[in-house]
Amino acid sequence: MKQCPLCNGKIVQASVKDYVYDTNLGDITIKGITKFDQCKECKNIFVSGQQMERWNKGLLKELASKKRTLKPKELVFTFSVLPFSQNEIAEAVGRNKSTLSKYKTGENPPDHAFDFLLKKIMFDYAEGHEKTMNELREAYESEGRSEDTEITSLAAVW
Ligand SMILES: [Zn+2]
Repeated sequence: MKQCPLCNGKIVQASVKDYVYDTNLGDITIKGITKFDQCKECKNIFVSGQQMERWNKGLLKELASKKRTLKPKELVFTFSVLPFSQNEIAEAVGRNKSTLSKYKTGENPPDHAFDFLLKKIMFDYAEGHEKTMNELREAYESEGRSEDTEITSLAAVW
């Protein structure tokens, strides 16, 4: 028998129609039936991490399909959900970490190339892979290598 971590009460399975999911994007209504654990005593609701991950992936997919650039609060949500640090993303897309911070606070509007790449990264994560991030990392690495090769071959001609 599961016990409530807050009051040691008995945990039972419960469900609700159209669960209201509180995110930093605001309240999101999850349509249909949502199952969760609930304490019989204090009535606290415990939604599993797996369930929240599914919802977050659904939300990222929705944001990634928007035709306009992402808004600051959408970027805050995105960075809180993606399994990469802001540093990793900044490096992959060739931006400064401080540039990304200005997008998040709304100090600067996000540029289109950044928005495009970030949406691809978001979509990949929702689909369960890291294709774009891997491609960006590889492209950056091979760029460094080819530059070296060019310089060496020029030196050989001279
Ligand atoms: Zn309880």
